[in-house]
Amino acid sequence: MIGSDIISLAMNLFLLDIIEDTVVDGPGFRTSLYAAGCRHHCPGCHNPQSWEREHGHAVGVEEVAERLLTDPFSNITFSGGDPLEQVEAFTELAKLIKNKSKKNIWCYTGYRYEEVCRSARLAQILPYIDVLVDGRFNQHLRDTDLLFRGSSNQRLIDVPESFLKGNNFTITHLILLLPYRASIVFNAISCFCINMLFLV
Ligand code: SF4
Repeated sequence: MIGSDIISLAMNLFLLDIIEDTVVDGPGFRTSLYAAGCRHHCPGCHNPQSWEREHGHAVGVEEVAERLLTDPFSNITFSGGDPLEQVEAFTELAKLIKNKSKKNIWCYTGYRYEEVCRSARLAQILPYIDVLVDGRFNQHLRDTDLLFRGSSNQRLIDVPESFLKGNNFTITHLILLLPYRASIVFNAISCFCINMLFLV
C-alpha cells in the first residue's frame, strides 16, 4: 500500500450524493460527486441545501475511489457545495484516481483560480485537476446558454496548461467542447424528428 493510500484510509468525505452517467457537469459521461458544505452563500444559489456540511453523509475516501474506479469509462466531476471546503480529502481522492486511472477530473469551486493559487492549502489539489470551473455564482450574470457554468463570470480553467504558463490562467479550449454542443443539437433534432414520426 502506498503512502497516500494509508493517509486516505483515515479520511472522510462529506457528500450529498454521487450521480453516475451525468452529462451536465462537463463533457461526456461523468460521475459527479456533490460535496456537502459551502461558505460562499451566493444569492440565487441553485442548491442552498448544500451549504451545511451536516446535510451530507461521511464516506471514506478509499471507498469512494474504489467505486469510481470500477467504471472504466466515466470521467469524474467534483461539485457541490464547494469541494474545496474539504480540500484535503478531495486531494487524496483525486490522487488515488490519477494514480490508478487515466480519468480526467473537473472541479467546481466558488473560489477564483487566483485565490486558489495564493493559498497553499487550496492549491494542493491543483496538480490532480484537469479543469477548474471557478468563481461564485452571480445571478446578475446568469446565462442559460453557457456551457457547464451558471454565470458568465465563472471560467473553465485548463489547469495543466495554466501551470505551464506559470499560473497565468488559460481558458479551456472551447473548440474541444464544440462536438459536445453539436451532439446536444443533433440529439434535440433527432428527438424532434422521432416525435413527428409518431404524430403523423
Ligand atoms: S459556490 Fe455554488 S454551491 Fe456555493 S453558494 Fe455559490 S452557487 Fe451555491
